[in-house]
Amino acid sequence: MRPSLLDPLFASLTALPGVGPKLEKLFRRLFGNLDRPARAVDLLLHLPTGSVDRRARPLLRDVEPGTVVTVAVTVDRHRPSPPHRARAPYRIDTSDDTGTLTLTYFNARKDYLENLLPKGELRYISGTATMYDGMLQMTHPDRVVSESDLDKLPMIEPVYPLTEGLGINQMRKAIDGALAKLPALPEWQDAAWLKRNKFPSFAEALKGLHHPAEPADLMPESPGWSRLAYDELLAGQLALALVRAHQRRQHGRGSSGEGFLRAKVIAALPYSLTPSQVQAVNDIVTDLALPHRMVRLLQGDVGSGKTVVALLASATVIEAGRQAALMAPTEILARQHFATIAPLAEKAGIRVAILTGRDRGKERTETLDRLAIGEIDLVVGTHALFQDEVAFRDLALAIIDEQHRFGVHQRLALARKGEAVDMLVLTATPIPRTLVLAFFGDMEISELREKPAGRLPIDTRTVPLSRIDEVVEAVGRALDEGQRVYWVCPLVEESEVAEMGDLAAAEERFKALSQHFPDRVDLIHGRMKGAEKDRAMERFSRGETQLLVATTVIEVGVDVPEATVMVIEHAERFGLAQLHQLRGRVGRGTGRSTCLLLYRSPLGETAKARLAILRDTEDGFRIAEEDLRLRGEGDVLGTRQSGMPGFHVARIDVHGKLLGPARDDTSLVLSRDPSLTSPRGEALRSLLYLFERDEAIGLIRSG
Ligand code: ADP
Ligand code: MG
Repeated sequence: MRPSLLDPLFASLTALPGVGPKLEKLFRRLFGNLDRPARAVDLLLHLPTGSVDRRARPLLRDVEPGTVVTVAVTVDRHRPSPPHRARAPYRIDTSDDTGTLTLTYFNARKDYLENLLPKGELRYISGTATMYDGMLQMTHPDRVVSESDLDKLPMIEPVYPLTEGLGINQMRKAIDGALAKLPALPEWQDAAWLKRNKFPSFAEALKGLHHPAEPADLMPESPGWSRLAYDELLAGQLALALVRAHQRRQHGRGSSGEGFLRAKVIAALPYSLTPSQVQAVNDIVTDLALPHRMVRLLQGDVGSGKTVVALLASATVIEAGRQAALMAPTEILARQHFATIAPLAEKAGIRVAILTGRDRGKERTETLDRLAIGEIDLVVGTHALFQDEVAFRDLALAIIDEQHRFGVHQRLALARKGEAVDMLVLTATPIPRTLVLAFFGDMEISELREKPAGRLPIDTRTVPLSRIDEVVEAVGRALDEGQRVYWVCPLVEESEVAEMGDLAAAEERFKALSQHFPDRVDLIHGRMKGAEKDRAMERFSRGETQLLVATTVIEVGVDVPEATVMVIEHAERFGLAQLHQLRGRVGRGTGRSTCLLLYRSPLGETAKARLAILRDTEDGFRIAEEDLRLRGEGDVLGTRQSGMPGFHVARIDVHGKLLGPARDDTSLVLSRDPSLTSPRGEALRSLLYLFERDEAIGLIRSG
């Protein structure tokens, strides 16, 4: 149960003065969670993105146009907009001993302004002054206060991300309301650590960030921000450790055998495994044989051959008479895996089925029945796999591909479908180690670092969009030679409307290219039905079409070894990781491949550096690390927002160095107090609630 001390922080924002249901809805939208009330704790952890410095207090004579100033002026004259010209601004002339300043208001109410700025009175005005017609003026000053209220004017005013309809003043007021409700919380951090880092208390840190004394207080490096980041990382590590301890206690079941099924699969392969594939399979087989639960991450660049490792892992548990499930994030990818696996499995006598949201009716029922009685050894699918109706006879191994699209939550859901299910997570995004720790905590890691033998490097070039005609010509030559080409269209923005924008761009490109190359071009995009997409992929895969215009739906996992050219339009709009993934769609066969990154010039310095990295290396790990250095962690994960998914406060580029201490602290705490009952343990429980890691509390061993 949540400590009652925290109740005020978990109450709906409507409990705060000045926040009604309408405003609360806006806060929900801002926090990106429409399904539950916006709460004080959400608001307090909604940290400023910067600040406005109002400390400059010049005389009017000395005001530098374009800067934010706070000036003391006397109100001289009101000049309301003439009645017949309501759209003309309402102006107010003010002055000090050294000059004049005109305040300009559009759509203003006369009585409101007369009350705010009474004629003849002294007022402090804060905002950005500009020159207009040689006169100093200020349009809609940010702040107007009388002398007696001057101390209430925040000299360093934090700036927050807002949403349409939600103003900064409403935000401020709500935050102050929430701060007022902040209870005195017991300290959960180690006292010596706190002192050594000069960290303020949790409450002081929040107060300092929402009422900064200096702009520097709002830097992620500041003691206040760092303290909260450490809190968040500690909560994350603690939760992961509790999950881990829980999984360890539930004894695993060893699945081992002679390995004859594996041998059969290997014999059916048209190639030999790379050394790192062999190593990964050995790691997994060893884990599976042990009577504890495996939680292993298989990291491998695109095209490094994770699918076959997954199949060999499955073969191990299947040989022991149990079942395996492979879950992919998209329909296309699930079908692709199925297509790769099915023929190999068949030769080895493994019974495979596919189950996705698209499977309905009799066939689906039949698959479910066969799964439940154990007539299917390996099921490949999408989210559909963790629906309630899906039951296994004896699920031993859950394999989850491209994990960062799923949450820990879903991983656990799949694991619950069996007894002591072993877990293998595949990721094509080469996540730097710091991030692995943040997301997964202590997972065993296998890496596929080399590409399968025989692969040629991909010739990557950057080309300005102005030379698109030459690119089309080059594509034409490739098509005439019988090559297959992907043409990826720009990403516009991430929203419903934007998806339409992407689509329009792709459709237009499709039309144009179809005219150039009649009968050879096809289009694939996210709005198409699954079956349509599959058919388009199949036509391309069989070579019936040669040029596939696509939105980023082809990003993940699609495998057509004959494809040798990848054109990416507006490459500068994609994340590096995403570009790397896209490029990985070619260079999968034995032919020499090319990737053309079309960009709109001029490119900024960072954009230039990013594209250059991609041109210079194919090592996904290096790309991820460089990307992290250049842009922060958001892009590494292919997400375009800044920050790590699931983390509000911690930024891995700034606070990454706190992860190690958070891990050490966690192991120390749990070794002394595994059920979190000491005073510090109790305080840490509060921490888990505050950062929404409290699901883990249910896993604490009782007694
Ligand atoms: P990933 O999922 O890691 O991106 P895949 O498992 O889809 O990569 O494999 C990419 C391609 O490489 C597939 O066509 C697969 O058949 C092939 N492949 C996998 N392992 C090897 C290997 N050791 N030698 C040659 N080709 C391989
Ligand atoms: Mg794959």
